[in-house]
Amino acid sequence: MFMPALQTVLKMVYPSRCLICGGLVETDFGLCGTCWRDTPFIAGLTCDCCGIPLIGDSDDAEFCDDCLVTPPPWMQGRAGLVYRDNGRKLVLMLKHGDRHDIALPAASWMARQARPMLRDNMIAVPVPLHLRRHFKRRYNQSALLSRALAQELGIDHVPDALERLRHTASLDGKSREARYHALADALRVRPRCRHLIEGRPVLIVDDVLTSGATLSAATEACLAAGASEVCISVLARVAKEP
Ligand SMILES: [Zn+2]
Ligand SMILES: [Zn+2]
Repeated sequence: MFMPALQTVLKMVYPSRCLICGGLVETDFGLCGTCWRDTPFIAGLTCDCCGIPLIGDSDDAEFCDDCLVTPPPWMQGRAGLVYRDNGRKLVLMLKHGDRHDIALPAASWMARQARPMLRDNMIAVPVPLHLRRHFKRRYNQSALLSRALAQELGIDHVPDALERLRHTASLDGKSREARYHALADALRVRPRCRHLIEGRPVLIVDDVLTSGATLSAATEACLAAGASEVCISVLARVAKEP
């Protein structure tokens, strides 16, 4: 009974703050009521492969048009948020704002969507930053998310299983084809981590899913290293305006 009492005392001394506006919040869920309402959480029917929200209701796995036309190499994918408004803001705060405190609540939002993808003996692996960018930014936001998500889901985590083999220029603003071309063979499983991947289902974690080029390259790398199958979990999913 000591811990809850201590937590209550700590809460009185350090009350929870909203991740976005800094206002006081009553719960541990990270956002105040106003910011919560303005955050595009993904719920309901989504594409089974890329996690994009779909209209309607279904008990079967459904797919969006993009995934039907060009199926990604991974089996299933889910996102916690749509990448707009506060969804975008949270990603940028985590990525550029040194806001590591976002990782824990973000992982709980991701876990709500990711749980149906869980497999026995699954292992979580983040998309790596390029070394040069890692040096500049000092931390990999995807590894912060994958560590917290693995903890939340109770699965193993290998933060450095994937590595980049060469520098890829910023992909911002590039076409889908240009992104895929730039990333082909850019990632691989580190030789010393291959035995951790071989024969196991892998959950690849990233902050944003845009064209899927990076996640495709990461998936191919895991499959090449012998992963039995690959699913993906991202904090936010870029979605066309409805
Ligand atoms: Zn707020
Ligand atoms: Zn899709």
